Amino acid sequence: MRDVKDPEFTVGVVGAGVMGQGIAQVALAGGMRAVIFDAKEGAAEAGRGEVFKRIDRLVEKGQLDQAAAETQKGRLSVASSLSDFSGCDTVVEAVVENLDVKRKIFGELEGIVAEDAILATNTSSLPIASIARTCARPGRVAGMHFFNPVPLMRLVEIIEGPATEPAVAEKLAALGERMGRTPVKVKDSPGFLVNLGGRAYYTEALRLLDEGVATPSQIDAILVDCCGFRMGPFALMDLTGMDVNYPVSMIVYEGFLNDRRLATTPHHKLLYEAGRLGRKTRAGHFDYDEKGKLTTPSDADYQPTGMPAATVFLAEPSEALAAFCREVGLSVIGADDGISPILGYPIGEDATTYAVRLGLDARRLVAVDLSVNTAKRVTLMTAPGADHAALDGVAEAIVDAGRSVTAIKDSPGFVALRVRAAIANLGAAIAEAGLAAPADIDLALKLGLNYPMGPLEMAEDLGVATTHQVMERLHAITGDDRYRSSLWLRRRALLGLPIHTPG
Ligand code: NAD
Repeated sequence: MRDVKDPEFTVGVVGAGVMGQGIAQVALAGGMRAVIFDAKEGAAEAGRGEVFKRIDRLVEKGQLDQAAAETQKGRLSVASSLSDFSGCDTVVEAVVENLDVKRKIFGELEGIVAEDAILATNTSSLPIASIARTCARPGRVAGMHFFNPVPLMRLVEIIEGPATEPAVAEKLAALGERMGRTPVKVKDSPGFLVNLGGRAYYTEALRLLDEGVATPSQIDAILVDCCGFRMGPFALMDLTGMDVNYPVSMIVYEGFLNDRRLATTPHHKLLYEAGRLGRKTRAGHFDYDEKGKLTTPSDADYQPTGMPAATVFLAEPSEALAAFCREVGLSVIGADDGISPILGYPIGEDATTYAVRLGLDARRLVAVDLSVNTAKRVTLMTAPGADHAALDGVAEAIVDAGRSVTAIKDSPGFVALRVRAAIANLGAAIAEAGLAAPADIDLALKLGLNYPMGPLEMAEDLGVATTHQVMERLHAITGDDRYRSSLWLRRRALLGLPIHTPG
């Protein structure tokens, strides 16, 4: 095998579909040679044509000069059979997601490529171990998981199976860099890093829906406006399609032997079974017109009626609550007058538990989530049987101050606090299991999913001790093992250490 920096380094790509084309293109952009093969008649030539078109588009946009484009095109060849891969230094397989097909290809490639050539698979969901086990030399087999569209998505996961030699993973990481990607190394595990770490965003949102806490529009609006996610989880599920995200959720859940942390909900399954796949079927969590435009009206904004509350009483002394009241012009009274709304900020408790613990009048309690940015949207939460006048009085003051309000039903951890804590806790569990380096967990989720911050950074942002407290309370209140705090998080919270602390 040539050195990864060698100008003649050659990447073989098996499968000329969406991913194979992208992988070939980034190999060319990195100055390497690429050979592409597809079992379907004419598919490899068609794939090459697509790559050429994309290269031409870069020239049109002024991102590539003509001479470089011609050089790149001249370095892409089409193979008529796998035996044309004999000179390849590394082969990346990107054919249909089927274990038997992939095993057969790897078996054939072993007899064709040089002894030290690397064999990589772009599988999204099959264990690298199960592909490698039928190979004569499983040590040179690894995952090289690109994201779609490959030229635009910088991340590439380098997946080490139990037999993968460390030098093989190193070389693949260097190859990924030469392709202009950012490689992160991850151990062979269901969902690898991005599809595993990304589960909490969807499943916790689905869980909130299941509990009747809020609607999809409300949850999406809170997570976008208050937490900086580019898209809400329900809009995102509709975009990727239930036919993708439901099976991936199940692969990850079952792969971790039904760990409750990774469980999705019956509603998710129902949409999948009903064929409500999202935008592609014009119906998913939301409805869409034939152009893919959302037609479901949003119910995210609460419309209060009546006058803003003249005064509020604070459930407990809190600088955060007092500052919030100043910002939205709510005047705080020193003693409960039995009439004014009571404003509280429970951390990981629902309004009910919080009111009972503090001996408050639950009917007048209006809980506000101050764990996130409230400049644009404020989440208000009430207990069952709450007095609407109290909620409306507080909501009206907030709306008058130019902010939107989303009013949700009772929930330990509101919406944002709970989703963020769940993401952070899952990230900590991944670190605990040693599946990837802590910094890589953050990097992968930011690059792979456009998260505003990585899961461990989220724990740090929320406060490590606070994140742990939210999980402990969620666990105690719901009795659901789903909310058990990861040991990684617990130890760093108890010791007062930063979440990235190794050991
Ligand atoms: P695709 O259907 O677009 O392309 C697959 C290609 O493989 C087809 O052209 C098909 O003719 C060819 N093929 C099938 N059997 C073959 C064989 N025995 N030998 C040679 N070619 C064969 O699929 P895709 O979306 O490019 O996905 C390919 C792989 O990448 C899958 O393992 C998938 O899980 C993974 N992946 C896909 C995405 C994505 O978003 N599409 C992202 C990451 C990883």
